Amino acid sequence: MISTNVSIEHKINWPDLASRGIELYIKRDDLLHTFISGNKWRKLKYNYAAYREGTYKGIVTFGGAYSNHIIATACFCAENGIPCIGILRGEEPERANYILMLAELWGMQLKFVSRTQYRGKDELTEKYLKEGYYVIPEGGENKFGIKGCAEIIGELKNEYDHIFCASGTGCTISGILKGVEDRKLDVKCHGIAVLKQGDFLKEVPLRYGIPDDGLTIHTNFHEGGYAKTSKDLTMFIQRFTQKTGILLDPVYTGKLFNAIFKLVEDNYFESGERILAIHSGGLTGWLSEEMYNSYRKAGL
Ligand SMILES: *Cc1c(COP(=O)(O)O)cnc(C)c1O
Repeated sequence: MISTNVSIEHKINWPDLASRGIELYIKRDDLLHTFISGNKWRKLKYNYAAYREGTYKGIVTFGGAYSNHIIATACFCAENGIPCIGILRGEEPERANYILMLAELWGMQLKFVSRTQYRGKDELTEKYLKEGYYVIPEGGENKFGIKGCAEIIGELKNEYDHIFCASGTGCTISGILKGVEDRKLDVKCHGIAVLKQGDFLKEVPLRYGIPDDGLTIHTNFHEGGYAKTSKDLTMFIQRFTQKTGILLDPVYTGKLFNAIFKLVEDNYFESGERILAIHSGGLTGWLSEEMYNSYRKAGL
């Protein structure tokens, strides 16, 4: 079982922050596990508990060809002796894909379905449920995922004015909101949308009956869309990593910290405020030809 003691909270030393009287802390959920990283482990935790309560043939889940959730599920299932199937969006890639290779190494059975079929996930879910599988939705977004992510808040040692995370499905930010709500904390919660048209993220907590007071979704830091990057973002990640020794991923946490630093520059925060950012992991996001090429294109 993974211990959350490794996910420490500590302050980032950065001159621009100190001179503005702002404190930025990071919670290192990326250290939870190399491959079942960050929020993906938190989402799997109670899905696994639900899996164990029933009698299932195995776990089925969904994702894109570079999905951190796919790789996390493959590894988690191997560690726990669960047969698993990953339903992948799109045709089988012709070029090397290190993520899918790793998922296969862990024994995940990969099934590629057309984008149209993939859009009909509900039908596929029905089919596998009928066959006796436990089905976890794309990105691990369900009520069990939220329950796991809410535990982030219970682990905090300090008090904060703002808590930030990167948002894809909105499950993690919903869990954080729930944790804050359950403990009646006075803290503003922020999700940085990593994809275009992230407005839907505002609705996610409400779908699970979690009040959204104190939630802000920032939709202008996606840098071109999901898994898209920019020279500006790549340069930021390089600077952050070199100054702090903490590696950020290009799809989620790079955008998260880039956004926080931009907000600092725009005087979004007041002097004396303390901010927490969740490093949700995902470092295998670097392992694609696209990321390699965009890194080189940035001239770094
Ligand atoms: C999947 C992922 C997210 C997105 O979390 P959601 O709960 O889907 O919003 C954030 N960060 C990393 C590193 C991820 O892998």
